[in-house]
Amino acid sequence: MEALQAKARELLAAGTVKVVIGYGEGTGDTRRPIFVRAVERAGDLVVDAACTQNLATYLTKAEVRALGRMAIVALPSTLRSILQLAAEKQLREENVLALAVIDGGLRELATFDAIEEALATVPDALSDADQKLIDKLTAMSVTERRAFWAEELGRCVKCYACRSSCPMCYCERCTMDCNRPQWIPVASHAIGNLEYHMVRAMHLAGRCVECGTCGKACPVGIPVHLLTFFAEQSVRRQFGQKGGASAKLDYAMSTFKPDDKETFIR
Ligand code: SF4
Ligand code: SF4
Repeated sequence: MEALQAKARELLAAGTVKVVIGYGEGTGDTRRPIFVRAVERAGDLVVDAACTQNLATYLTKAEVRALGRMAIVALPSTLRSILQLAAEKQLREENVLALAVIDGGLRELATFDAIEEALATVPDALSDADQKLIDKLTAMSVTERRAFWAEELGRCVKCYACRSSCPMCYCERCTMDCNRPQWIPVASHAIGNLEYHMVRAMHLAGRCVECGTCGKACPVGIPVHLLTFFAEQSVRRQFGQKGGASAKLDYAMSTFKPDDKETFIR
């Protein structure tokens, strides 16, 4: 924690960055995002096991970008988000500096290549709870799985916290908010909820960085992140591309090739 606070002070004092996006004390044991712009506030930064949400969602917010060059306290999934946003031309290298928290240590990563190198040393690991639920879902028949999701998504209140917390849901205007025509019903009901979550999962296919932040944000405890994990893993199997692996990839679901044999739908 002291190392992070000292680094933030150094970067802000030198003018290397204008804001440090990090974690601060929240209510009880929780942590909340904070935006440190002055050297004397660097002591508000906290880093510990309770810091779990992916802060990369703020990297594309116009009001944050307007502050100037950003440093961000980055978990491995935050680093993957940075690479994915860069690959999608949403983030420029000169605008961001990652303060990576890896294995309890702090590393300053100023280039996308450095982030890629650092990530290469981090093993892929889902939490035990997520892995257990994925194994359970995988073992189900299609009918059982459909029933599982119908019940889970039936509890959705359409608050859109999952969308707001996701670094990859950065569109200024989302299909969900269109009302001329209205593609997806606004009210919370079985069909509309299913449509929202299917559309969202398809839009995250191959792009989800498996941070789990959307699931943690859900006020009614729906494991909504597992839908996007499944979509990401399907693209990984089909095309050999992992979400957030590189700032240079042409991602499968956003690349058009006239000679694509489209064998996956035959
Ligand atoms: S969809 Fe994927 S990238 Fe977005 S918040 Fe959920 S787990 Fe993270
Ligand atoms: S956060 Fe939960 S309740 Fe809110 S829209 Fe997403 S799945 Fe539905």
